[in-house]
Amino acid sequence: MLAGLGDLGIDGVDHQIEQFGPVGHVVVEPHRTDTELFGDLAYRQSVEALRVGKADRRSGDLRAAQRHRRRPRLGFRPFPHGQRCATVRRIHEIQRTVREVMMRIAIAGGGLGGLTLARILYRHGIDAVVYEREASRSARSQGGSLDLHPESGQRALAEAGLAGRFRSEARPEGEEHRILDPAGRTLVHHRPQPGSFSGRPEIDRSALRDLLLGSLPGGAVAWQHRLVAATPRPGGGFGLTFDGGRSADCDLLIGADGARSVVRSLLTEAGLSYVATLVELSISDADRRHPAVAELVGPGNLWCIGVNQILAAQRLGDGTIRVGISVRAADRDIDTYRSRRALLEMFDGWDPSLTALIEAGDSAPTPRRIEAMPTGTRWAHQPGITLIGDAAHLMPPVGEGANQAMLDAAELAGELAANPADPDSAIRAYEEAMFTRTHPIAEMSARVQAMMLSPTAAEDITRFFTARPPDPAPTK
Ligand SMILES: Cc1cc2nc3c(=O)[nH]c(=O)nc-3n(C[C@H](O)[C@H](O)[C@H](O)COP(=O)(O)OP(=O)(O)OC[C@H]3O[C@@H](n4cnc5c(N)ncnc54)[C@H](O)[C@@H]3O)c2cc1C
Repeated sequence: MLAGLGDLGIDGVDHQIEQFGPVGHVVVEPHRTDTELFGDLAYRQSVEALRVGKADRRSGDLRAAQRHRRRPRLGFRPFPHGQRCATVRRIHEIQRTVREVMMRIAIAGGGLGGLTLARILYRHGIDAVVYEREASRSARSQGGSLDLHPESGQRALAEAGLAGRFRSEARPEGEEHRILDPAGRTLVHHRPQPGSFSGRPEIDRSALRDLLLGSLPGGAVAWQHRLVAATPRPGGGFGLTFDGGRSADCDLLIGADGARSVVRSLLTEAGLSYVATLVELSISDADRRHPAVAELVGPGNLWCIGVNQILAAQRLGDGTIRVGISVRAADRDIDTYRSRRALLEMFDGWDPSLTALIEAGDSAPTPRRIEAMPTGTRWAHQPGITLIGDAAHLMPPVGEGANQAMLDAAELAGELAANPADPDSAIRAYEEAMFTRTHPIAEMSARVQAMMLSPTAAEDITRFFTARPPDPAPTK
C-alpha cells in the first residue's frame, strides 16, 4: 500500500533518513519563482541535505559535505510563488500515519480524475489502487481534445509534477476557434498568442491519459476490474465486488467512475437527466484526404451555430478531425442519427463547405446521450467514501468537466496528505470546498448548454463570447 522510497526515485536512503531525522523540514529555495516539479525537487534536495548530514557526522570532513552538496540537481527548477514543499520528513510522517491507520485506498475508475488522484497521492507517499473496467490502456480510443484551464486542470498537473510534460504534449495553437453561421460567415474568431501557454492550451485526451498512466508505478492500475457493488463492512470500509466475481477490501473508497458511477448510489439518489444528443464522426488524415475541410477547421475548434443545432469540429494532434453534431435531447429518436443521409437532411440549406464535414466522415455516425446531474447535488458526509469528477457533479460538456475532475483530485489528495491521521475530516473538508466550487460552474454549464441549442443561439453565443473572455467553450 505504501510507496517505498525506491518508488519515489531515491534508492537505498531509507535508513539514512531514519538516522538523520533531525534534519527536519527543508525549505526549498523559497526565493526562487520559476519551477514546476515541486515534489521531486523538494525530495531530492531533502535527501541531499540528509547526505550532507551523514557525511558531516561520520567524518567531520566538511569537504565531503561540499562534495555531496555539489551533486547535480538533475535539472530540477524551483516551484512558483516561492511555495514551501513537501519534504522527506513530511513524506515519512504521512507514510507512517497512513500505515498506522491502516488506510487502504481504492479508486474506482481510471479516467482523468482517478489517475490524477492516484498520481498526486503517490507523490505524497500514499499508495492507492485504481480499479478500472477497461481491459488495458489501449482498449478504447479516448476521444477528442481538451483545453486545460490554468486554475484547474493545469494546476492539478502542476501538483502531479507533470506541468513540464504537459507543455511538451499540449498544443497552444489548438486554442484557436471560430464561430460561423449556417451560411459560413464568421461571427467570432479567437486567435491565441502564438506559442503562449497562459491561456487554455489543448491536449488530446489520449496524450493526457498516457502522461498520467506513465507517471504511476507498475501495478497502480488494476485493469479489467469493473466495480459492480460496494458493501459497507461492519468495522468500517467497504467490500468491493468486481465483474467476474473478484473481490477486494478497502478502508477508503473514492468513486471516480464517471457519468454512470456505481459508487454514487451509496451517497446520493440523484438521477441523470438527458440534456442533449451528440452525434460523432471522425475524419482521419484530413490535411491530405480533405484539405478544404482541414483548412476550414484550422488548428483548433470550429462551431457552426444553427437553430436548435450545432455542427462542430475539432483538430487532434495526429491530424484527425473530430466532428460533433449537437441537437436537443428529444428532437428525434436517437437511432435516426446513425444515418448520414438523415444528418445531411437536417442541415439542408447550410453552406456546402460546412456540410462537407458530415460527408467526409470515415465511418457511420455515432450518436450518444449527453446527461447531467441536478445542479447543486450534495450528499451528507459518510465515513470512508467520497466521489470526484463526473461521479460527483456530471455537468453538460461545455469545457469544465475534466478540468473540475482533475482539480477535485488535487484538492482531495492535498487534504488527505495534510491530514492522514483523520481521513474523514480530510474528506469532509474536500467535499465542502468541492460543493461550493462546482455548484456555480454546473449552473453556468447548464445555462450555456441551453443557450447553445436554442433558436437564438447564434446571437446569444456571439454576445457571450464578445462580452467576456471565451469561457467556457461549446460542446466539442
Ligand atoms: C463530448 C464531450 C466533450 C467534452 N469536452 C470537455 C472539454 O473540452 N473540457 C472539459 O474539461 N471536459 C470536457 N468534457 C467532460 C469530461 O470528459 C469529463 O467531465 C471528464 O472526463 C470526467 O472525468 P472523470 O475521471 O470523472 O470520468 P471519466 O473520464 O468518465 O472516467 C471514468 C473512468 O471510470 C471507468 N469506469 C466507469 N465505471 C466503472 C466501474 N463500474 N468500475 C471501474 N471503472 C469504471 C471508465 O472506464 C473511465 O475510465 C467533455 C465530455 C464530453 C462527453
